[in-house]
Amino acid sequence: MIHIQNHEKRVIVIGAGLGGLAAAIRMQALGYKVSILEKTDRLGGKASVFKKGNYIFDGGPTAVTAPYLIEELFSLNNEKMSNFLELKPVKPYFRIYFNDGSHFDYSTIEENIQQIKAIDSNDAEGYKKMIKSIEPIFQKGFMELSDKSFESFWSMLKIAPALLKLGAYKSVYSYVSKYIKSDKLRMVFSYHPLLIGGNPFKITAIYMLIQAVEKEWGVWFVRGGTGKLVEELAALFIRMGGNIQLNSEVKEVLFSTKKKVSGVILQNGKILNSNIVISNAPVATTYLKLIPKAKKTRIREFKYRHSIYSMSVFMIYFGTNRLYPDLHLHNIILGKRYKGLIDEIFNKKQLNQQGDFSAYLYVPSRIDRSLAPPEGETFYILVPVPNQDSNINWEEEKIPFRNLIMGFLEKNFLPNLSKHLATEKILTPKDFEERYLDYKGAVFSLAPTFTQSAFFRPHNRFEDFTGLYIVGAGTHPGGGIPGVFSSAKLTTDIISNLKK
Ligand SMILES: Cc1cc2nc3c(=O)[nH]c(=O)nc-3n(C[C@H](O)[C@H](O)[C@H](O)COP(=O)(O)OP(=O)(O)OC[C@H]3O[C@@H](n4cnc5c(N)ncnc54)[C@H](O)[C@@H]3O)c2cc1C
Repeated sequence: MIHIQNHEKRVIVIGAGLGGLAAAIRMQALGYKVSILEKTDRLGGKASVFKKGNYIFDGGPTAVTAPYLIEELFSLNNEKMSNFLELKPVKPYFRIYFNDGSHFDYSTIEENIQQIKAIDSNDAEGYKKMIKSIEPIFQKGFMELSDKSFESFWSMLKIAPALLKLGAYKSVYSYVSKYIKSDKLRMVFSYHPLLIGGNPFKITAIYMLIQAVEKEWGVWFVRGGTGKLVEELAALFIRMGGNIQLNSEVKEVLFSTKKKVSGVILQNGKILNSNIVISNAPVATTYLKLIPKAKKTRIREFKYRHSIYSMSVFMIYFGTNRLYPDLHLHNIILGKRYKGLIDEIFNKKQLNQQGDFSAYLYVPSRIDRSLAPPEGETFYILVPVPNQDSNINWEEEKIPFRNLIMGFLEKNFLPNLSKHLATEKILTPKDFEERYLDYKGAVFSLAPTFTQSAFFRPHNRFEDFTGLYIVGAGTHPGGGIPGVFSSAKLTTDIISNLKK
């Protein structure tokens, strides 16, 4: 990597999501003078924290994987992550509840095998074979390709045969079904794509690598919540000399010539100059909203408007004034239907009103008492819902849907919840669209389908322009904490290689 000595070399990063923070740290380490401009009043994007009294809510990501990617950021400033963050291993990784009340503690391979035997002993052998078969997918898809830029079609052609051989044309669900016969276990080993906003029946089996990433590095909880990770990354960036401006929404990217970027203008009219702008705003928002009309092409506009976007989420962050000691940190609640429900969310774009939804229930106060008052618990429940391509009127549906979810929780998991509810806050897809400018309220950006991965995913450099880059879930390699940290590495490597 080349180290730029001239400290007047400026970089603007639009957005303080995890990808934006990581890219800013990396550019600062290369010797640039980096400013982050964030639209909202807080850091972290989807990983922002909401506080209500002593209840501290992580807004989004909760399960940390591949922590070496965080360690790398501290090492760029010759520091050790362990001096700032305490990571606790989570076991089991997730507790998965079935509709009949039984559960599966999803964890290490050995522990999974024991649990599989209790459900269907025939599937234990199939599971072992499946895990073995994922190994080359992990080696290729994560170890070799997650930090390759795929800027040329040739780079895609070169690896296409290997990807096809690994089964990339199959969906995650059909991949799992080849090895596992029990319906319950098929759900357990195929729900992972939902964690990055993808439909298990559609997204490429390459994403089986998520299970291999968990196996390789485990699942971790940051003491103090994911908000602590955001806080410490921002503090690291400041120690390195970086600058962060909150409440600073970028209105437009500015150009000095037809193609060359010269800076940005904020909604308040302030102009900031820089020849390098890295956008952590969602990729479609960057192109459709932040690039002046005269610079855009119809083809690209069409492409961004008509790509396949991820699902959205309906979030209830709530605190209770009693304890619920039986709950685990990460709980996945599977409804009666699986394919039918996913079809409603991704294809029919309908809101489930039968109350048989699937959800993820996060209870961080179960392992970290600093996040709730002594007699209470902090929760969030995430219910996957269609993105804003649906015609759902969230103003009208918000409270009835909230009541359905809370009623379901009270009946099945949290007795007397309504009596013990101390605080709550709701975010709908419309809120994500307005707050973070998530295009179509798709909180995980572009869906990770085969035709939207690798070369086909928006590149980390906008090739139509000089000096405009992208980082975060909508670019290569994709969403999730490891995805956006890898994208920061990739984007900054591209910039540093261009300057050599
Ligand atoms: C509810 C939920 C739970 C999740 N759980 C997990 C999990 O457990 N594990 C995991 O690995 N991943 C998880 N994810 C995915 C993960 O959180 C995201 O992929 C990742 O945080 C996205 O980071 P990003 O860098 O793309 O930026 P984002 O978080 O999208 O941040 C982008 C930032 O840009 C700002 N911005 C946008 N436009 C402008 C503008 N014009 N001017 C200035 N600023 C602007 C926004 O305000 C925002 O702060 C979860 C996501 C959600 C929503």
